[in-house]
Amino acid sequence: MSGMSRARLVAMVFALLPSVALAGACDAGSDTPPSSAVAFEGARIIVGDGAVIEDGVFVVDGDRFAQVGAAGDVEVPDGAARVDLSGKTVMPAIVNAHFHLNPEREARTEQLRHSAYYGTALAVSLGLDEGNASFQMRDEVLADGARSQTAGRGITSPEPGRSEVPHWVTTEDEARAAVRELAAQQVDIVKIWVDDRGGQYERLSPELYGAVIDEAHTNGLRVTAHVFRLEDAKGLLRAGVDAFAHGIRDMDIDDEVVELWRERPHVVLVPNLPGPGVAETFDWLSGSVSAERIAEMNANSTDRPQAQEFFGIQARNMVRLHGEGFPVAFGTDGGSPWAVHQELADMVRAGMSPADVIVAATSTSAVFVGADDLGTVEAGKSADFIVLDANPLDDITNTRAISTVYLRGVALDREEMGAGFNSRAP
Ligand SMILES: [Zn+2]
Repeated sequence: MSGMSRARLVAMVFALLPSVALAGACDAGSDTPPSSAVAFEGARIIVGDGAVIEDGVFVVDGDRFAQVGAAGDVEVPDGAARVDLSGKTVMPAIVNAHFHLNPEREARTEQLRHSAYYGTALAVSLGLDEGNASFQMRDEVLADGARSQTAGRGITSPEPGRSEVPHWVTTEDEARAAVRELAAQQVDIVKIWVDDRGGQYERLSPELYGAVIDEAHTNGLRVTAHVFRLEDAKGLLRAGVDAFAHGIRDMDIDDEVVELWRERPHVVLVPNLPGPGVAETFDWLSGSVSAERIAEMNANSTDRPQAQEFFGIQARNMVRLHGEGFPVAFGTDGGSPWAVHQELADMVRAGMSPADVIVAATSTSAVFVGADDLGTVEAGKSADFIVLDANPLDDITNTRAISTVYLRGVALDREEMGAGFNSRAP
């Protein structure tokens, strides 16, 4: 696989830069064989951990970054192919820690490829995966596709009328049994829902989520919670929850929850903001979505004052928790392959800096989900990165100005992929 990938990469570089690449090819008769490395030169590199390298150089060998640094600090191997990225900005591919993938193989594949098209390296499918495809596919490397993780079926109290995929539990024994089943399947994380859905249901009680968290930790698993109310967030923190899959949504947070969090500073927030309630354009999806559908989406996007208020609560809560220094990762919920770019912009709209939001969506998310080889443009990591035509540190919506996406050192053929998504769209 990686041999073929390298051949494709080199072929692409030759096609783009014949005169430069020929320099490497002329070694045929000399002692030094042509290098398999490719040097990318001249870009601004957003490393993903907060650092930025202006006029950077990075060398990709096979599916990994071999060297990353400022021009002059990197020794490009003899015979390496060279790609000029002057004027471009490079950032790590995105890690989406809260997503929902289709449980069927074919649709899941399409979704992972479409997510890759928009710059996602890894998506975590959070709690609605029935069947086996989700478990089989997380161990597979899809050509041109993002990687995946799965929480399998999550755990909630009975919610008749909503999805019946999650385990519905009403006793401590059922709660613990559900966790043991998930542990046997080796889920990547346990997802729970603690939400009465506006008074419709009895939400998972502290006794039950306490049992889930305890049993999960006994089995070496972490728990992430869908939460709505401040009161439940406090209970979950006391019970040892590891992460929140949403922000606190019913009211502005108070000092007590900040104190509880401070005693557990490893707890991760995936803000997963709601729509900001502001009219936006979707014209930037033209590479993979039909003009007809884009026109429809544009028409449906209007200013909604009530949504703006709801957004405001979560925005203030996220900014306060981020300001306290608690880890803020990144997730979009839903199944839209391009929503990552909306969420990045929403987090900036909410008050985080573009630089901090990119850290959240790359290195912080990668650490949170345990993807050790993702999240930064750094020697030794998987060469999963996005080449942008404009700088997202100036304007976060520049993450949409994608020139190329590389996964495991190979450039996606975005033009062909985009046309395929469009023609196959339901
Ligand atoms: Zn979700």
